[in-house]
Amino acid sequence: MENFIKVLKLTPKGSIYVFFLSVGLYLPDLDLALLPILHHRSIITHSILLPFLLALIIEKYLKEKLPLNYSYITSGLYAGIGIHLMADVFSPATGFGAIYFPWPMKMSIGILTYPWLIFNGVYAFHKTQKDILENKIIFIILIVAGALWYAIFNEKSVKPFLLFGIIYSTVIFIKKYKLSKHLSLEELDTKNE
Ligand SMILES: [Zn+2]
Repeated sequence: MENFIKVLKLTPKGSIYVFFLSVGLYLPDLDLALLPILHHRSIITHSILLPFLLALIIEKYLKEKLPLNYSYITSGLYAGIGIHLMADVFSPATGFGAIYFPWPMKMSIGILTYPWLIFNGVYAFHKTQKDILENKIIFIILIVAGALWYAIFNEKSVKPFLLFGIIYSTVIFIKKYKLSKHLSLEELDTKNE
């Protein structure tokens, strides 16, 4: 742990973000290593649950020890998982393509797979955007590059990248709209004072 913290201290934030984004890209398929408990496309790993729990644990036990805002870690994971889930939308929601509950149920959620993947993707992009990316163009470039890389080299198709583009830009657009509304309300407030 001490060594890990030392390494974190010396690493630029962008590299930390890229490292955890890369981990996030493949994290959902960790279910393949845990097949006796999880089914492939497990609802546990194909969701925002893992970075969400990690953030809770860091916040409670490790926050003081870490040399940087831990959002660079969890936001990277959210981004990678979001990109992975967008690619999974393109396989049919039957057999191994569907999302499954873990042991002892091991039952698929069937057609609900699509809204599940999209909802978790939207939440993941919202989180990564909210925690560190807001107005930081370099992180936006990194996440777009990650999505393009995953689509081309892992999925061998541009479709996942296009879906990522639509969902991610919608999240940014809504956030910008909300922010501008919030700012103009604040302006009104200061004028009224
Ligand atoms: Zn997957």
